[in-house]
Amino acid sequence: MLLFGSRAAGGAGTDFGHNKKMERSDTRRVMGHEAIGVVEDVGADVRTIKRGDFVIMPFAFSDGTCVFCHDGLQTSCIHGGFFGTTDVAGAQAEAVRIPLADGTLFPLRAHVDDALMPSLLTLSDVMGTGHHAAVISRVTPGKSAAVVGDGAVGLCGVIAAKRLGAEQIIILGRHADRIALARDFGATDVVSERGDAAVERVRELTGDQGVHSVLECVGLEQAMNTAISIARPGGAVGRVGVPQEQTIPGSEPAFYNNVMVGGGVAPVRAYIEELLPDVLEGKIQPGRVFDRIVGLDGVPDGYRAMNDREAIKVMVTP
Ligand SMILES: [Zn+2]
Repeated sequence: MLLFGSRAAGGAGTDFGHNKKMERSDTRRVMGHEAIGVVEDVGADVRTIKRGDFVIMPFAFSDGTCVFCHDGLQTSCIHGGFFGTTDVAGAQAEAVRIPLADGTLFPLRAHVDDALMPSLLTLSDVMGTGHHAAVISRVTPGKSAAVVGDGAVGLCGVIAAKRLGAEQIIILGRHADRIALARDFGATDVVSERGDAAVERVRELTGDQGVHSVLECVGLEQAMNTAISIARPGGAVGRVGVPQEQTIPGSEPAFYNNVMVGGGVAPVRAYIEELLPDVLEGKIQPGRVFDRIVGLDGVPDGYRAMNDREAIKVMVTP
């Protein structure tokens, strides 16, 4: 099954994880796992996707038919996998081949305003991932939520928490530009301390009870410890930060406070249908996390800018 996108746009972000460097390899690898684009051609077995369709490409490909796809967990698809690996090329390219196109791609057949493109691009990863953290942490109307991490996913987590009705939304982060955006997105409180001081501050903000829902959007040990420590007894932590350890930190406080810890790689394909109307109507503007645009030649500098915290997230327009 072959399918190519042109006039595509992709995001650059989580490819490096927290190591911020990749080992030099003899095997060529095309980076990039988030994209939107227009279908150039389709293979003989493709049934629903048509040439000329404008499509959103989630970061995982999936058949759309297996038991896990039916459960809305396309990231565990029996025949699926991830873009930007050594096996399946990523989207930072003039064209990208999409395996299992009918299950993987989400086509939009209505005319879409160019101004919405950055926000549509976030549905391929960061907005769906922030939403996943909110769903797993059981964000509830009128209750409190905290977002650990002020990167693109954390900021989308703020949007998601607001969208699902959280009344108090605390962002834990320390970069002025990101905090300002978080406030625009609906954060009611900012905690810039770290470690025990951050826990103390959140307790002050919540009548010493902790928050109902914690969206963990970093993946480092300290962030996870903070997330569990600021959860209210009986609360929940939804973790979407790629973990950097083999064990889950904070086991003991989670146990004694009956804090539910869940989450994982986000099945963003399952969330597009729910989030898309809000994007099309302009109710949410997650595309504002893209604060720099580069061409393919500018990708290395885009990664550098994100690493140096000059840019929140970079959009690539081949
Ligand atoms: Zn499947």
